[in-house]
Order: sequence, then structure tokens, then C-alpha cells
Amino acid sequence: MFGLIGHLTSLKHAQLVARELGYPEYADQGLDFWCSAPPQIVDTITVASITGQKIEGCYVESCFLPEMLANRRIKTATRKILNAMAHAQKHNIDITALGGFSSIIFENFNLEQFRQVRNIELEFERFTTGNTHTAYIICQQVEQASQKVGIDLPEATVAVCGATGDIGSAVCRWLVHKTDVRNLFLIARNQDRLQELRTELGCGKIMSLEAALPLSDIVVWVASMPRGLEIESQIFRKPCLLIDGGYPKNLATKIQHPDIYVLNGGIVEHSLDIEWKIMQVVNMDVPARQLFACFAESMLLEFERLYTNFSWGRNQITVDKMEQIGHLSIKHGFRPLPV
Ligand code: NDP
Repeated sequence: MFGLIGHLTSLKHAQLVARELGYPEYADQGLDFWCSAPPQIVDTITVASITGQKIEGCYVESCFLPEMLANRRIKTATRKILNAMAHAQKHNIDITALGGFSSIIFENFNLEQFRQVRNIELEFERFTTGNTHTAYIICQQVEQASQKVGIDLPEATVAVCGATGDIGSAVCRWLVHKTDVRNLFLIARNQDRLQELRTELGCGKIMSLEAALPLSDIVVWVASMPRGLEIESQIFRKPCLLIDGGYPKNLATKIQHPDIYVLNGGIVEHSLDIEWKIMQVVNMDVPARQLFACFAESMLLEFERLYTNFSWGRNQITVDKMEQIGHLSIKHGFRPLPV
């Protein structure tokens, strides 16, 4: 049995979908109510692989909202994630993905030190961040979509916003070691971590976002922003490919320009319909088949009976592991969302 720990993108979003999911008592409530709400299993899931295997899982809503971080309600945010993990373990889920901000909170606030949640001792090997698969899928999207929109990778300048993060650093490693990308911009706020990454990669130029955007042909957005940025389309090169892997999205503006291609990053499409309702509430275009790559990672581990935290700790993702999960992704019928 696999699990998915997820959250909604904002209070407004949460209020909207609470009713749809059959929780009308949550729909009119403010942030304080969500802060005290316990985790809930709100969906049960059946997934078939193209190999013919079938697996069962469930979605655990943590009731965490990005506003909790924006309002510095750190203790609440950490409690949400630990409680959701304990809830998954109590329900005998073998492998659970920590979606979106769940793994970021786990890492940022060093939750590994809080193993005991009431009467449950968390077994961390039963959880995965799902970030290896997400990074792999984003890299496939860079390679496939650039070709489709006529951007030549060896000649292109690729900017990674959130380069020092778990997903961002893995994307950089892949671009440097597995593609012909020669011009790579590294963007984040902490300069020491950027220097460290640059040293590890042996290439890449540290840039501010403002300076990088007008010079980039491809932008990979994987920054952990509780709210998206408003960016005008004039700033971008034309043509330009923007792959937004943030959850919530890094780009708040709906960019509509014939030469700016915006791709939902870190999303996979399955070859077969999945029996669930949760992807409707996060507005996937094809909810029966499209999902976050991090969620798909726990499905892949369940298909393979690999009950281990495949993705764990920050900035540990290797190209080898990306290839390994990529191979399983193809084997079971997932593919990167195309442009
Ligand atoms: P991390 O916390 O590991 O890394 C975040 C990165 O963003 C860091 O480099 C951080 O560096 C940078 N960053 C944060 N704020 C800003 C800012 N305002 N401007 C520039 N850089 C910034 O996060 P992950 O790699 O785990 O996740 C990244 C994103 O991917 C998140 O939005 C997450 O929700 C999403 N995600 C998507 C998944 C999917 O399946 N599609 C799966 C999992 C996550 P610094 O602090 O120095 O600025």
C-alpha cells in the first residue's frame, strides 16, 4: 500500500475544495481553523501499471497551507507534517511520498529529530520525498520540450531558479553531466550555498533572477516560494521555455505570448486511468492520468516493493538514482507531461 501526503496551495484553494471533497464544515473557516485541523485520509486510489500489476493507496491531506509559513506559524507547520506522517504509518502504509512543502518543512526544520509522535515512533524508511523522480521528469521535460519548440540545447542558456534546492541541484547535475547544455545560470538567495553548488558542478554562473531572465532561453522554476511571482512577459527572450515545477507555482501570472511556452513542470502522465478524485482538486488538465512526479515515485516504489526512502535528505540526489527511477517510470507507463 502506498501513500501520498499532500496539501492545497492556499487558504482560498482549501476552502474551495473542502466542499467538493465532502467536508462542508471546513469550507467557511479561516486559517486558525486549518491550523488546528488534524490530517485526514480523503481519497483511496487504485493504480494499474502497463505491466498488468495493480496497487492500492491513499491520499493523506495534511491540512498544511503555505500561508502558515508566510505567517511564521512554524510550529503549526511542522506539527502538520509530523502528524500526517504518523497518520500514514498508523494506517499501515508501506511507502509514502511527502508532496510539495511537506519534505521542505521536514528538511528546513530538521524534523528527523522528532521521531516520536504521541504513541507512534516514525519509521523514516517508510517515507520518500519523491524528489528524485520529480528532478528526473523535469530534466526530461527540458530535453523533450526544448526540441519541440525549436530551442537548441547546446546553444541555449538555461537558468535554474532554486538551483541550490533538492530538486534544483539534481536538475543542475543532470544538465551538466547528461546533456550538452553549456550555459547554465544558478539562481537562489543564499550566496554561500550557490558557491558550494558551483564548486561541485565545476561550471555555471551565479546570477540574480532579474539579471538572468532577459538572457535565458529556458527557465526551470523550482524555488520553494509560498506565493508565486508576478512577472511580465516583456522580460523574457522570445522564444523561451518556462518549466514551472513549483507547488504552489513559482509564476503567478498567466503568461500568454505565442513565443513563450509555459510547461507544468514535474508532472507525469500515466498511460492508464487512475481511480481517484484528488487530482481534480489540484486542477490537473486530465485528472485521471496526470499527477505530481513525487506522488508517482511512491507508486513506483510500491510496484517494485521497494520499501525504502529512495529520496531522502537534502541535495543527495545523484544522476544514477535519477536514471534508476526514470527506468521504473517508463517501465510502469508514466511519461513527462509534454509542452
Ligand atoms: P528546497 O527547499 O530544497 O529548495 C528550494 C530552493 O528555492 C532553494 O534553492 C532556495 O534557495 C530557493 N528559493 C527559495 N525562495 C526563493 C526565492 N524567493 N528566490 C529564489 N530562490 C528561492 O525545495 P525542493 O527542491 O524540495 O522543492 C522545490 C519546489 O518544487 C517547491 O515549490 C516544491 O513544492 C516543488 N515540488 C514539486 C514536486 C512535483 O512533483 N512537481 C515535488 C516536490 C516539490 P534560497 O533559500 O537560498 O533562496
